[in-house]
This record gives sequence, structure tokens and C-alpha cells, in this order.
Amino acid sequence: MGQNVFFFSKERTDGNATMKELLGGKGANLAEMSGLGIPVPPGFTITTEVCGYYQDHDSTYPDSLREEVAGHLKKLEAATGKAFGSIENPLLVSVRSGAFVSMPGMMDTILNLGLTDETVAGLAAKSGNERFAYDSYRRLLQMYGDVVMDLKPETETDHDPFEEILEALKDEKNANLDTDLSADDLKELVARFKAVIEKKAGRPFPQDPTEQLWGAIEAVFSSWNNPRAIKYRQINDIKGLLGTAVNVQAMVFGNMGDGCGTGVAFTRDPATGENRFYGEYLMNAQGEDVVAGIRTPLPISTLNDEMPAIYAELIAIRAKLEAHYRDMQDIEFTIEDGVLYMLQTRTGKRTAAAAVRTAVEMVEEGMIDRKEAVLRVDPDQIDQLLHPMFDPAAEAQAPVLTKGLPASPGGATGSVVFSAAAAETAAAAGRKVILVRTETSPEDIGGMVAAQGILTARGGMTSHAAVVARGMGKCCVAGAGELSIDYANGQFIVGGKIVKAGEAISLNGSTGIVYKGDIRTIDPELSGDFGMLLEWADEFRTLGVRTNADTPHDTAIAVKFGAEGIGLTRTEHMFFEGDRIVSFRRLVLAAETVKRLRVDKEIDDLTELQKACEDDKAAVDAVRQYKQALQELLPLQRGDFEGIFKALKGLPATIRLLDPPLHEFLPHDAEGQKEVADVMGVSADVIREKVESLHEFNPMLGHRGCRLGIIYPEISEMQVRAIMGAACNVHKSGIPVKPEIMIPLVGHVKELALQRELSVRIADEVLAANGLTKSEIPYLVGTMIEVPRAAVTADEIATEADFFSFGTNDLTQMGCGFSRDDAGKFLKDYVELGIYDKDPFQVLDQAGVGKLLAMACELGRKTRPDIKLGICGEHGGEPSSVAFCHKVGLNYVSCSPYRVPVARLAAGQAAIRG
Ligand code: PEP
Ligand code: MG
Repeated sequence: MGQNVFFFSKERTDGNATMKELLGGKGANLAEMSGLGIPVPPGFTITTEVCGYYQDHDSTYPDSLREEVAGHLKKLEAATGKAFGSIENPLLVSVRSGAFVSMPGMMDTILNLGLTDETVAGLAAKSGNERFAYDSYRRLLQMYGDVVMDLKPETETDHDPFEEILEALKDEKNANLDTDLSADDLKELVARFKAVIEKKAGRPFPQDPTEQLWGAIEAVFSSWNNPRAIKYRQINDIKGLLGTAVNVQAMVFGNMGDGCGTGVAFTRDPATGENRFYGEYLMNAQGEDVVAGIRTPLPISTLNDEMPAIYAELIAIRAKLEAHYRDMQDIEFTIEDGVLYMLQTRTGKRTAAAAVRTAVEMVEEGMIDRKEAVLRVDPDQIDQLLHPMFDPAAEAQAPVLTKGLPASPGGATGSVVFSAAAAETAAAAGRKVILVRTETSPEDIGGMVAAQGILTARGGMTSHAAVVARGMGKCCVAGAGELSIDYANGQFIVGGKIVKAGEAISLNGSTGIVYKGDIRTIDPELSGDFGMLLEWADEFRTLGVRTNADTPHDTAIAVKFGAEGIGLTRTEHMFFEGDRIVSFRRLVLAAETVKRLRVDKEIDDLTELQKACEDDKAAVDAVRQYKQALQELLPLQRGDFEGIFKALKGLPATIRLLDPPLHEFLPHDAEGQKEVADVMGVSADVIREKVESLHEFNPMLGHRGCRLGIIYPEISEMQVRAIMGAACNVHKSGIPVKPEIMIPLVGHVKELALQRELSVRIADEVLAANGLTKSEIPYLVGTMIEVPRAAVTADEIATEADFFSFGTNDLTQMGCGFSRDDAGKFLKDYVELGIYDKDPFQVLDQAGVGKLLAMACELGRKTRPDIKLGICGEHGGEPSSVAFCHKVGLNYVSCSPYRVPVARLAAGQAAIRG
């Protein structure tokens, strides 16, 4: 191992911002700021490599570490002019974690380390402020007790043991705020804290500063693997890191009196992206007070009135940091006796709306170019902007309960729960919930993920709840101070109203208003900065973006979001609507009989077949019923396709012929079968027997896809007739149409040849009957590639296909051998075990299924160089899969309407990254 400890100070700095992997984000940026001449208290960083070593070597350190730390401590003493453990002039330090990726609140921090029964007296004498010294000491005891000696609340509803003692003392002393406690009160508090530590931990709080330091270092390193940090990494998909670094830094005090304070700020508004300095501070407080949400802080602009010189200095640092990092920064600062110190800078987490606005405005300000702006926004995050918001009319009618801070935007409705565990249980049972807490802590992370929204009674815009919710894109109202939460009785009271667990409330995270009851939501719009950013992405992308849509309504939404056509219409979805399910069920009931007669009599044509069966009434009825059902369905399907072609206004539409097995159209339960029987005028037994005869052990590999159209060609004929009839009608109304007929589940070229011949014959027949030609309606016939055999024989398949569309849902099912219906039972475990990095049904398995896809592209192009290639499985809207599709040279991806903007952005990024 190389150097284990890196120093930073005004005079000498070993690291810089490029060394985040080794020094963690915090350490690297502290070094960078020191190097930039920004006032940062000096300190040193123990590397993430040491954390890796500590985990791999049974919680021990590299041999040289103790010596290196001691040496750096000496340098720190020299830089500060103070001495660690000295009574006259004690050096106090903070010990903080800091990994490569910031994991806010997930790991541990200890402040004021170095205070003991002796040095606290020295600090009191030196600062001339006894109250401050004992306040610092009680904070150390509190943090050290929690983090190093493991004195934590025992259950969800338990309060922190130290907070309980503090609250009790405040009651005894009639103190409202912590700051109302006197020096003597704080001495008493220190005594009580020490007693509880000794009682609960079975050993006293260490009075040797060096022992404290190593206890803290060890706690930070082992906090890398505490349950909440592990969960945070799982949720945020953070993998492959060595561990956390440890930052040991000279303390500066925001709690030393009235000329002191501390705050956190963003160089731009993290909720909206507006270019204004945005933050909060507390006078006479230490950093943790702002973030923990115990006291509600003041807006940063007020600091301008209170300490104008400091405010001006902060504004100058804000400008310097933004210009240097060319991105919005999240900063922490402390003011000690009228002197400003920066304690942290990092790229600020922001809502999707803020990410978009910041990126666009930074281009306008000349800070970054368009490419950089497109890369700045995470495609998965913009999903937030595409989710429904409250319908303003419904919101205007909703009864207001209270108002808090608009901590993370969006609208959320759900029933009230009071603990993270309850939120997780309810969400697992499919219920929508709002998590209501006095304040949240990192332990609540699972419940915050599970909830629709989060409401807290205490804390500001940078409280844990606010920061974490914004990062998740989850609606949050924080600091609703009128709320009085009664965990024990499962209720909260606000304005005299009682709201119990299970009752519905709604949160508007953009205004901070909390309503009683549910509120209807409406669809979002693409406009302003968001529209602009997507247009920039379009300038770079080479991959087309289409949509999977089955109705004119969905098609119109997708076109509004920028879809360049339809990549998949699943025609079977139309069979379920209205009366048509009755016609389709008639067809299903007669289909097998017709097939048997056809084989027996060796006659294909239905009219001829009907004639040949004249003396068998049941047979004649079956053929008639089959024909009639097809006749009924034809105009209905034609009408559906006309609607879709009109909504597309000339854009292409890939329409897939019937895919699912026929039994899916019949009910499987006795009650449903009786209902269907009544509607159809047959006995329930007829339906039951039909369901039994259509039963398949593995329907996904059964009689479905092109196998249906091959055995029942009239179904394909009817569908092609409907597609082309609709195309002719819409063409005649003056709207151009580009139909693409797609044959599903082909595995062998001969399957496709049969269905292609049928499709071309019918299409040409319909065109001729309408007096039109293929040059006027240039239709295509192609296939899905979703069976591995099709992928590996794609050169043969391409002889019959104008296009391929990769059905990666089935290709994953058959390629990995995971049933789409059953894999949920074990895939989560597979991902946790690391067998697959991600669920392959969500994120394309590039090494396996992706290889099949790439091979099919290559083989297909060999036969037909201009073959059109697309993807219509769920992966078409997932950013990393979109990037893969770009790499293998597909012409387009197709995804659900609401994913279209995500795919546009991901495709733009893929093209820029090359
Ligand atoms: C696919 O298999 O990827 C596909 C798009 O078809 P479906 O999901 O309808 O089977
Ligand atoms: Mg499929």
C-alpha cells in the first residue's frame, strides 16, 4: 500500500478533487478547497484503501498506520498552534466518514473529539466561555456514546437515550431551547451522560484523547458495513467501492457564542434549480443541529442582515466554487467568532426539475456546453417529471390540514403510517402510504422508499427527510410545525383535528400544503427547460425513439412526448374492450372444431368447408360461428387501427398480429365461466370443457405467437385486412400512413414465410380493392426476434423480413430460461447473490441476451444490409439498455409512452459518449 494519510492545510495540501476514489468525496474536496485558497480548517484524510484493508484483515490496520496518524496529528498541532490532550490549549478534532459517492447521513460523524474532564476545563478557561465548553463536551459524549459505544434507541418508537435525558433536564430547568440551559445545567448533563454511558456500555467514556481518536476511526471504518449503509448502497445501486475514508479535521466552533453559527447551503435552489443562493443557518449551533432538524433554522438571506461581511464572503465563495466545479455545489460552513470556515463542498443533489433547469441555464450562462448539459441529467431521474401532479381543480377543493416546507416536489396521496416498518409492510401489501414522522433518521430509509410521500413535523429544507426525499425524487413536506404526533396512540393532531393511522392524506411537495383525503392527479407536460434539454438530446442522438401503444390515447401521449412512431401495438389488448370480447370468445369456442373439420375434409376454404358439412348441424354451426365472429371483429379492429394511424399523423406503426394463447381470453374460474356462458347462450360446461381442452402446461411455450396464425390463418387474414383497410381509409382522408405488419414468436424461417405470404396476399388484395398501390401505402412485413433460434438463424429469417424488432421480454425468458411469470420468486435473491447484477427483465443482460441480439443484427444485415432493426421489449426504455442498443446500431428503441423522454435523453447521452 502507498501513502495511507493525506494532509490538507493552508500551507500544504497532498490531495485534490481528482482523488475521490482514494480520499472519498469529502476528503478530496477539502483538499481541493484548501488548494484554492478557500478557508478550510486543516486536517488529514485516512484513505479508503485503509478501510478496504480493515475489512479484509479482520478489523486491523496496515502496520505503519498508527505512526502515520501520529505524525499527521503533530502536523495538525503545528498548523493550529494547539496540542491534542493539552489542558491549556487543547486541539479538538472532528472525525467524519466520506466515501467516493456521497451517502448523506448514512455513516457516522463525531465532533469535539479530544475533550475530557480535564481538557474541558482548559477549553472553558481558554474560550472564557464555560457554557460553550460543556455544551461541546456533552455533544461529544452524545455522539461518541451513540457511534462508538453503541447507545442507540432500542425500538422504532423509542427515543434516543441522550435526547431523553436532555429533554428531562430541560423540563426540570424550565428551559425551552437547548440554548436556555446554563453552564451548570450542562455540567449536570455531562455527568448524567457519562453515567448512562458507563451503565449501558459497561465501561466509562475514555478520558485519553488518543484512545478516543482510534475509537472514532474504528467506528467510521466499521460504519461502512452497518445495516443502514448497506441498505443505502443497495437502494442506490452503489457497488464496487473499497470503503469510506476518515477525515480528521481541526474543530471550529459555531456554538461558542453569538458571533458564531453554522449552516448548509446550495449554490442554486436544489428543488427548482433557480439561480439563487439557497440555504439555512443557525446561530450559536453546531453543524449537526441544522441537519438533524432539532431546531428550525433561518433562511440564508437573513445572514446578510445579521453578519453582512460574512454573507458577502460566502457569496464570493459560492461564485468561486461554481466557476471552479462548473456545477451546483452543496456546501457546509461554520462561523467561529466572526471568522468563516468552509467544511465541505460537493456536487449538490437536486430534484429532476432542478437538474434540468440548472443544466439549461448553465449553458445559457456559458458555463457548460450542450453536450455537457445533456450528460448532466440522469435519464432515470426525469421519470419524476413525467409523473402525474395534483389536478388543480381537485386540489382547490381539498380540505387543508396544515402547511410545512416544500421539501421535495410532486403530489402524493396515501394512508397515514407512523413508522418505517409500517410503511414497508403496507407497501408490500400494495397499499399507498404517507410516512409521518416527527423527524426521519437514516434508519427510516426503507420506509421512505416504500412510501408515496413523507411528512415531518420538525426540520428544515436540509433536514434528513428533505435531502433524502429529494435524492429519491419522492414527494416530501418537512417541518410542518403545527403537527403534534402521538406515536403511542397512532395519530397526529393538527388544528384541533385528529388524523389516525390508515386515514388518507395528500401532500403537495411543491407548496408544502398537507390536505385531508385523496386528490385526483393529472398528466404532466413537456415544456420549457425540459423540452429544450430533450431537443438538445435529439440533436445528438442517432437512435430513433418509438413507443409501445395499443390505443389512440396512448399514441397521442407518446407523440406529445416525442415518439417517432409506434414500435409495438399489441393487437390482443383490443380484443378485451367492450362487446368485442364476446365475438372473440365465439371465435375461440369454434376454432378447434373448425381446425379438426378442415383436416378431416381436407378443405381450407371456410365456405367450401361449410358446404361439405351440410349434413352435420353442429359442424355447420361451428364454421358459421367462426366466420361470423371474424366478420364482427374485422370492422372493430379496422376502427382501432384508423384511430392509431390518425394519432400518428404519418409516423410509422408496427402492428403485431395476435400473440397470446387462446385460453387467455376465457375465464378460468367457475363464476366467470357461468357469466360468459350466459352472455353467449351456451351452458357453463361448454366453457369449462373448452378451457380444459385449451389447457397447456407451459402456455408461454405453447400455442401462441405465429403458431396461432399458422394454424388459424383466418385470424391473421382478418387482422391484416383490418390493418390495411384502416391504412387505405386514413390515406384517403389525406393523412399518410406507414403500416408495418409484424409476425410474433417466429423461430424458424418457414413460419415467417407462411405468414409473410399470407400478409402480402391480403395486403395487396385490400390495396387493389381500394384502387391503391404499394407505392402509395408502402407497407412492410417483418418479425419479432424473441426466440433464441430466430436470433441464431437471423440470416435465414432476414430473407423473409423487411424488419426485425427484438422482443427482449421473451428473448430474456427463453435466453436465460427464466419464466416471465415465475422468476419473481428467485430473481431478487439472484441479484442479491450477485449472480446477475440486475434483474434481466428490467435491465438487458448484455453478456447473454445482448449477445444474441448483437448476433442477430449482424446476421440479419448480412442477408439484407438495409434491414430495419428495433427493440420493443421493456428494455427499450431503460437507459443502460438504450445505450447498448445504440452501440449495436439499432435504428430505434420502443418503450411505453411515459418512458419516451427517458429514452430520448438516454439515446442522446449514448451518442455523445460514443
Ligand atoms: C417481448 O417479448 O419482448 C414483447 C415485446 O412481446 P410481449 O411482451 O408482448 O411478449
Ligand atoms: Mg413477446
